[in-house]
Amino acid sequence: MHSNRPATQQTADDCAKCGACTAVCPVYQVTGRESQTARGRLHLLGRLTRPSSAAYSAIISSCLLCGACRDACPRGIDTLAAVIHARQQLPPLAHHQFLEKLLARKTFASPRLLKSLSSLRNSLLKNLPKASGLWLKLAFLPEDYAQQMIPPDFSTAENKPGPQAISFFSGCLARYLSPVIGTATAFLTREATGSSLLVPEEQTCCGLASFGSGNREEARKLARKNIAAFAGHNLPILTSCASCYSHLRSYPELLADDPAWADRAKHFAARLQEFSQFFAGSGLFSPPAQTAGSAQDLPRVFYHDPCHLRFGPEKITAAPRTLIRDLYGSLPVELARGPHCCGQGGLFRLAHPDLADQIFSSALTELMELSVAHVVTTCSGCLLQWQQGIGKGGHDCQCSHLAVFLARIIRQGRESPAAMSRDNRGNSAIPQTR
Ligand code: SF4
Ligand code: SF4
Repeated sequence: MHSNRPATQQTADDCAKCGACTAVCPVYQVTGRESQTARGRLHLLGRLTRPSSAAYSAIISSCLLCGACRDACPRGIDTLAAVIHARQQLPPLAHHQFLEKLLARKTFASPRLLKSLSSLRNSLLKNLPKASGLWLKLAFLPEDYAQQMIPPDFSTAENKPGPQAISFFSGCLARYLSPVIGTATAFLTREATGSSLLVPEEQTCCGLASFGSGNREEARKLARKNIAAFAGHNLPILTSCASCYSHLRSYPELLADDPAWADRAKHFAARLQEFSQFFAGSGLFSPPAQTAGSAQDLPRVFYHDPCHLRFGPEKITAAPRTLIRDLYGSLPVELARGPHCCGQGGLFRLAHPDLADQIFSSALTELMELSVAHVVTTCSGCLLQWQQGIGKGGHDCQCSHLAVFLARIIRQGRESPAAMSRDNRGNSAIPQTR
């Protein structure tokens, strides 16, 4: 079963059992189960020769692939690669059947949810490719969520085509379900660079959901399709989704053993631009004029760090905060214990909704103590998790993609500068995004 057992065994042997990974694991923090940590899984992988039980599948699937353990490991062990490799080696369809059964059970148990999904299919999602990981994520939205997600019109007049200097990888959320993210990104691009966005029609799902669930071949197919979609030019490739960006960056590794695509994958990855770094680096957004004490009076904004950026190789945490400070006029507030995983983890939420809810609840409890008016983030999965969690809890707090938040600030400030300062009740207008 383990065709690469020597490599797996070596990885397991490299583990010093120090527990640094356990201390930072969001799943361990809510379950206290050693088997659901990197250390526990490595121990298991180093000793099992024919893993096939349901318990084993559950252990291997109960990882968010957040990267916190890999980031903390003093031995530099690629703990995520070990989990993904284990998922690829699961008995035929064990992992996928587990997810699909859960999906079917949840969906068919709720006629209202079915109706909702069907209406989504018939309208907003009629063009969503079958391979998109968004299908699985959508199956767990509450019944009224589709209505909440219908994007506001973001003034198409502001998006007249100009010189096409930047291309855009939208990701499934911005392309099919919440196009306001793409529209807002186009607006910001034009404000910052004077350029319009080139959005190749042939682009498809980044493939992270396929890769994370162990379907490497499907992930490779999607990667080739995306590389080909952006091959007609050498423009930078901007993406507004943190998870997509993180996975697109891994294409060279994913296609390293494919002679026809390895170099093309490297060229593609070298052109990628992460959303917040791109705009923070543009230097074209001037901070608003501040009066003494004004920043403290603004409604509080919280920026949620997507794990793919926080634990990725570039550790992108400063750029989004800089953008918020420069355009909103105040730095976002921080949780008492620092950034916190939201619990979405792509398909993790699908396989382990209760664990996902527990991890999210713990973040939300901390957040509510800060009287936050607006949550912003740059990851499609995190955005769904926060919008769903805040909506379900009935909290008086908005949640939107950073692109939408920033675009609204600029437009609102331009149309009505007074709206960006305090009103006569001493409150500053918060951009409306839903
Ligand atoms: S990737 Fe995240 S959830 Fe998975 S074992 Fe590591 S820290 Fe835990
Ligand atoms: S941090 Fe690394 S070396 Fe330490 S227990 Fe975890 S995987 Fe093993």
